[in-house]
Amino acid sequence: MSNKGSSASYYPEDYQAARASFIAAAASTGALHQSFVVNDSCNHIEEQPLTIDVAELGQGNDLVVVSSGLHGVEGYFGSAVQLALLDRFETGNLPGRLLLIHAVNPWGFHHSRRVNENNIDLNRNFRSDGFGGAPEGYRHLNGFLNPQRLPSAIELFGARAVAKIIRHGMSSLKESVASGQYEFAQGLFYGGAELSQSALLMAANMQRWVGNARKVLHIDLHTGLGRYGQLRLLCGNKESAASRDWYEQTFSHETVESLTANSGTAYPVNGQFGDWLQSQFSGIDYRFIGAEYGTYSVLKVLDALRAENRYHFYGNPQSNDYVNSKRTLIECFCPADVEWRRQVLSNAVSVVEKGARAL
Ligand SMILES: [Zn+2]
Repeated sequence: MSNKGSSASYYPEDYQAARASFIAAAASTGALHQSFVVNDSCNHIEEQPLTIDVAELGQGNDLVVVSSGLHGVEGYFGSAVQLALLDRFETGNLPGRLLLIHAVNPWGFHHSRRVNENNIDLNRNFRSDGFGGAPEGYRHLNGFLNPQRLPSAIELFGARAVAKIIRHGMSSLKESVASGQYEFAQGLFYGGAELSQSALLMAANMQRWVGNARKVLHIDLHTGLGRYGQLRLLCGNKESAASRDWYEQTFSHETVESLTANSGTAYPVNGQFGDWLQSQFSGIDYRFIGAEYGTYSVLKVLDALRAENRYHFYGNPQSNDYVNSKRTLIECFCPADVEWRRQVLSNAVSVVEKGARAL
């Protein structure tokens, strides 16, 4: 790789550049590399394949897993971290056994969407108990979150959102985000009607990748939630007190949070990648943590998601509004700000190194 060590050089121009860099870097470390093609739902042939790429490297009894791009567009950041980790590994700074899963949602990454080829939020799709339903709070917000036409005049999203929050409460807004929905196939936070291609690929291969490891630390990379540049480590709802203690000791108190913390209501969160993995690997010590780096305010990010979803379904791909909605979404999940990029990248690399050492 060129410009080794400069954080800016790790951030990709787009999905295909990210994929090419990841494959090249994996090869230069001598990693075992595999590619899994994800097909477009309308069988539209992409010029280059969309793949989930997996690199296995190093030796040891314990395993560190780092996954990126479960939420497509968040892969700009996650891919950069994985490239930096491959460099750290190559220079001998990251010992042990490592599994890197690059672009769990390659279609979303390629098309700058948070969701996959079927509008599915993959972190609501890993269900083993069927699909269907939506929280009552989501139904109330559906018309507002998912307008079924282009804006006819200037819309004041912020003001309307505040009014909605006053009427329905922030918790119903959070609930619609946190628990997902299975009713509105073109809506935000849709969990799908069946397992996605990505989920099926994980189900078919994870057992083999984990192999005979007795202890696994899985760090799933995300952006877009929390304060600008700040890390929050989100652990699942079913996490034991012992694991919570371990996370807090290994990382730090302030950054470790339970997914339902501060909500006051313990509503079930279904279909999460981490919960699913932990149920698949209940016989071993499988620790799973979502590393979330903050970008902009909840309202700004939600506004960007809503606009992009609207233009995706109702807009003209050639129009400026459509293009801008994509651009804004990328900015919300991977700010162009050089300082943000440098800081979150070095922080994420150190989180993985700390975790690997403590395991
Ligand atoms: Zn995410």
